[in-house]
Amino acid sequence: MRILVINSGSSSLKFQVIDSESEQVLAKGVCERIGIDGVFTYKTDRISIKEPVVMENHTQAVHTLLDTLVDSEKGIISDFGEIDVIGHRLVHGGEKFTGSVVVTDEVIQAMTECNDLAPLHNPANLIGVDACRKLMPDTLMVGVFDTAFNQSMEPKAYLYGLPYRYYEKYKIRRYGFHGISHKYVSQRAAEFMGQDLRQVKTIVCHLGNGASISAVKYGKVIDNSMGFTPLEGLVMGTRCGDVDPGALEFLAKKENLDFPQVMAILNQESGVLGISKNYSSDFRELKDAEIKYNEKAALAREIFAYKVAKYVGSYAAAMNGVDNIVFTAGVGENDSDIREEICSYLEFLGITLDELKNREQSEAVRISEGTSKVNVLVIRTNEELEIAREAAEVARQNGVK
Ligand code: ADP
Repeated sequence: MRILVINSGSSSLKFQVIDSESEQVLAKGVCERIGIDGVFTYKTDRISIKEPVVMENHTQAVHTLLDTLVDSEKGIISDFGEIDVIGHRLVHGGEKFTGSVVVTDEVIQAMTECNDLAPLHNPANLIGVDACRKLMPDTLMVGVFDTAFNQSMEPKAYLYGLPYRYYEKYKIRRYGFHGISHKYVSQRAAEFMGQDLRQVKTIVCHLGNGASISAVKYGKVIDNSMGFTPLEGLVMGTRCGDVDPGALEFLAKKENLDFPQVMAILNQESGVLGISKNYSSDFRELKDAEIKYNEKAALAREIFAYKVAKYVGSYAAAMNGVDNIVFTAGVGENDSDIREEICSYLEFLGITLDELKNREQSEAVRISEGTSKVNVLVIRTNEELEIAREAAEVARQNGVK
């Protein structure tokens, strides 16, 4: 099957065409600055282009990418019909979606009802769905939710210490995010280690600009560090992670801020960017600054690593043990110093790192020593492939061959 994977945001739309049998990427690209001016990037094994293309809305963006896919020179197919399935990344499925589903009118309605829970992401995702439905009405569409894999959490993990009535009334609870990545990486780790997924306890550290940790016990998430929104948990690029709400009331009073202003500070001005006194949210730049004795940059990285280690420790307790700790995403895959620092807190788990392996760059590598009691791995995440796999599976169940 040929799967078109779509990840639609408010002003950008990323896409990949993946052959589900070989799992090869046939084409990929991104439509950026939709509704502003428009930049189109596209790559196959033969060509690579980046050019200005006016895209006034998401329908035009999907038009642009489809036209390119069937173009006689740049394209990889001769007809839209050669796309068997479209897999959409959908951010928030609330409690309604515990797995991937065929996108129907009912699903769109149910997702629209979740818009309140993810006001920045869900409407943008749905615009992408709508654009594809307009242009390819006969193609099967599958929705793959970033919250679905985390739906296996039990109430003891997902409920806050708030009056229960607010959960009943408004579904205020922890949902957890990055589920597509946590699923792919935890499964790839077991496969790489030759383990039976149903018998291993894995902690996945997805450390990118947005960062989250999950505890995956016997193939199912039992906890995830993100909460009702992606703001909870670790200190991130620009997001604060866990903060005492009492401090926020205090801050709002002192600075005369309203709720939207406080939220903007927590989402966009905090994390390692805020701690480093606005030096950078980029871990590479922070590392360079640390080397040049920038104390706040060093502090930001130190706090980040400490917080990751604390979550890993608590998730080892939550699962009553851990077999694999896996680092993934931009920082987790590339920053060997941060990995080393995090693991230095975890010697009590019997972890010893192989320094040379820790500097190796590959799709999957075990960076702990053979004698280490816990396997520490670095695995490149691949959310698009996971979406393609799930879309293919749902399509097969619906008679697509
Ligand atoms: P997101 O998808 O949440 O935007 P990514 O997973 O792409 O984030 O990670 C982006 C972050 O990865 C960047 O902000 C950068 O700090 C970090 N990063 C990428 N490459 C490196 C590297 N070689 N060393 C350290 N950090 C890196």
